[in-house]
Amino acid sequence: MALMITDDCINCDVCEPECPNEAIYMGPQIYEIDPNKCTECVGHFNEPQCQQVCPVACIPFNPAWRETNEQLMAKYESLQAIAKS
Ligand code: SF4
Ligand code: SF4
Repeated sequence: MALMITDDCINCDVCEPECPNEAIYMGPQIYEIDPNKCTECVGHFNEPQCQQVCPVACIPFNPAWRETNEQLMAKYESLQAIAKS
């Protein structure tokens, strides 16, 4: 399941550099997460790093992107392959 950033985001810039997949980017008004790049940090860390650092706890799981651990690992491996190409 990818994560998402809610309207409570205060644009503090803390989460963006913590994402190992470069899935977080500045949207038109607040930061957003590309669900095609978010692996819940699977492959990199045991916990979602963005959730750990967000001061207003506005990064819940995205119910529209339900994925198994195997799917998240496959996404991680796909992203790694793209990064190396
Ligand atoms: S959970 Fe991990 S991969 Fe997903 S957006 Fe947050 S830091 Fe990036
Ligand atoms: S850490 Fe939280 S409040 Fe700060 S930019 Fe990221 S989502 Fe927004």
